[in-house]
Amino acid sequence: STLVPRSIGHILEQVLLFLSPQAMMNDIEIVNQGPEEELLINCDENQIKQVFINLIKNAFEAIPPGQAGRVRIHITRSGDYVAIQVADNGCGIPEEVIRKLGQPFFTTKEKGTGLGLTVSKEIILNHHGSLSITSETGKGTTFAICFPLHT
Ligand code: ADP
Ligand code: MG
Repeated sequence: STLVPRSIGHILEQVLLFLSPQAMMNDIEIVNQGPEEELLINCDENQIKQVFINLIKNAFEAIPPGQAGRVRIHITRSGDYVAIQVADNGCGIPEEVIRKLGQPFFTTKEKGTGLGLTVSKEIILNHHGSLSITSETGKGTTFAICFPLHT
C-alpha cells in the first residue's frame, strides 16, 4: 500500500471517538495523552487505526468485570521517532504467555481469534516501526510502539 504523511494524534482521536461508547459501557476511563505538537508518520491510515483498535480492545478485555478500568494512550516525540504507549490496569500477562504473543491464532480467550497482535505486528513492521511489551500480573500491561517520524 502507498504510505502518506498523516497526523498520528488525529488518527488516535478518530479511533477514540469510535471506541469511547464501549469504554463507557464497561466503566473504563480512557486517558488520551496525545502529542502536544503535530507529529506526522508515513502511513496507511486505516492500518494504523487497526493497530490502535486491536491494542485498545485488548486493553478493555484485560480489565476484569466490575473493576474500574483505566486505559492510557500516550504519544510523544522521541528524536526522529514517534513513541506510542497503550497502557492498561488490567490482569497483566504471565511470562509464559508473553513468549507466545504474536503467534498466529494464539489466544487465552474463549472467543478470541488470536490474530490481533499478529496483524498489528505485521502492520508495524511494514511501517518500519517496532513493538515491545511490558506487563505485571495483576497490575497491568503496556504496549510500546515506535514509528519513524516523517520529516
Ligand atoms: P485475541 O484478543 O483474539 O485473544 P490477540 O492477538 O489480540 O488475540 O491477543 C492474544 C493474547 O494476548 C490474548 O488472548 C491475551 O491473552 C493476550 N493479551 C493481549 N493484550 C493483552 C493485554 N492488554 N492484557 C492482557 N493480556 C493481553
Ligand atoms: Mg485481540
